[in-house]
Amino acid sequence: MARFVFVTGGVVSSLGKGLLSASLAACLQARGYKCRIRKFDPYLNVDPGTMSPYQHGEVYVTDDGAETDLDLGHYERFTGVSARQSDNVTTGRIYRDIIARERRGDYLGATVQVIPHVTNAIKEFALADTDGLDFVICEIGGTVGDIESLPYIEALRQLRNDLGRGQTVSVHTTLVPWIKVAGELKTKPTQHSVREIASLGVQPDVLLCRCEMPIPEAERAKIAQFCNVPKSAVIEALDARSIYDVPLQYHREGLDDEVLKAFGLPTEPRPDLSRWEGVMDAVDHPEGEVTIGVVGKYVGLPDAYKSLREALIHGGIANRVKVNIKWVDAELFEKPDGDTISELEPMHAILVPGGFGERGTEGKIASVRFAKERKVPFFGICLGMQMACIEGARAAGIEGASSTEFGDTPEPVVGMITEWMSEEGLQERRAGGDLGGTMRLGAYEATLGGNSHVAAIYGKTQISERHRHRYEVNAHYKADLEKSGLVFSGMSPDGRLPEIVERPDHPWFVGVQFHPEYKSRPFDPHPLFASFIAAALKQSRLV
Ligand code: GLN
Repeated sequence: MARFVFVTGGVVSSLGKGLLSASLAACLQARGYKCRIRKFDPYLNVDPGTMSPYQHGEVYVTDDGAETDLDLGHYERFTGVSARQSDNVTTGRIYRDIIARERRGDYLGATVQVIPHVTNAIKEFALADTDGLDFVICEIGGTVGDIESLPYIEALRQLRNDLGRGQTVSVHTTLVPWIKVAGELKTKPTQHSVREIASLGVQPDVLLCRCEMPIPEAERAKIAQFCNVPKSAVIEALDARSIYDVPLQYHREGLDDEVLKAFGLPTEPRPDLSRWEGVMDAVDHPEGEVTIGVVGKYVGLPDAYKSLREALIHGGIANRVKVNIKWVDAELFEKPDGDTISELEPMHAILVPGGFGERGTEGKIASVRFAKERKVPFFGICLGMQMACIEGARAAGIEGASSTEFGDTPEPVVGMITEWMSEEGLQERRAGGDLGGTMRLGAYEATLGGNSHVAAIYGKTQISERHRHRYEVNAHYKADLEKSGLVFSGMSPDGRLPEIVERPDHPWFVGVQFHPEYKSRPFDPHPLFASFIAAALKQSRLV
């Protein structure tokens, strides 16, 4: 039976529980263990699909079409294990399911309560689908002490009891702040946080202490004594120079050893972390650098483009170059004094990422035009591909070319389609439907043209990539777009939905309807990002 590691956070949010969970899984994998990571989100949204990127950062999409928390992206990038719908749950989803059952009369007249009904649902979620795994790492969102996370801590307490000794370990993340005027690191917030979670019946086994300064022996001993853990289980977690150094760093500090010891498992043989050493060698010793302009809408909040940012860095790792990302606000180019040319001229390549809504789209179209005319490498992702097609159509003389997403248009080069085929059969989408759940979501196959640039990049003609969009490029405009030099080089297997466009007369111009960034990993960079960065490198040598 799988063993469970519960990761909780105390003192403040943003202590990096997601990275901790992903890094711990990476270290355990490096010892040959099979791991899965799950995220419990205590908010009342059913999923993050309808939440603003400003609030919640990126929505991460799994192969099986779940819209999940961005931490699942870390999990995949660090473990290479594809996340599933069953790896992320929210309080909203749990309540929705319980209320649906209650309405059906499934509870046979019983009073439905947080304990046991909500806590049981949380436990079922943790335990489901764990056959063949050695470890399941469960990250509880939020901070201990929040009202919202109480049912999760209670479920965790019960599980520790239900599963018996040796089957669960609790890792608690805290902050050990540096008080400048006193010149001291303070352990009190950690003591309070551990007291809080212990008062809920969960004694942490391992403490991960985030800090700006190394923790002296005396403070470490104090934390151990007051928090009831061995001194070796007080793990110092200084800020890392790259997120990909975190598995190596936490391993050096003894995280995986302490977790194994808490389970009563041997710490020998030592893990093989060579793939992480290889990644860090490329990060630490770049042989050049490129600057990529990302023209988007949520540029003030890089978390909104988390996977994209990482995929660009992976492209850099593949080429052993440092990637500087310049976030450019698309709306700048819509202002009368907006100067597209001088903003974009210093870029070695331009990327227009995914997005929703009309705001900023004319600026994005202007960036496509700039990249096309100046022969600067261009990568359009999802909305970025749609903008490349609208730009192409306008260049071919279709003046009113637009997307139905932005209102009625006489020339819907991008439009809502209502039916398409998936592995589960015919899917339907209703224009007036709820915003949550009307998108083409998850992995879909595409067939690439044999002689296309993208087939050469992928090294194959059948691919599967993840989607998250409501609108599609309208294949009826194929002939017009071809007139503008834009070729449909990837289509859905039934030939109806354009998946990829490219410009054969351009050094690197590719638009994709899907999100390749979700599948890129530091030790396995996505071919499109590796090739795009290689093109940017070439461009940097020209200018
Ligand atoms: N807004 C566009 C659509 O829904 C693109 C979505 C995206 O870029 N993810 O089709």
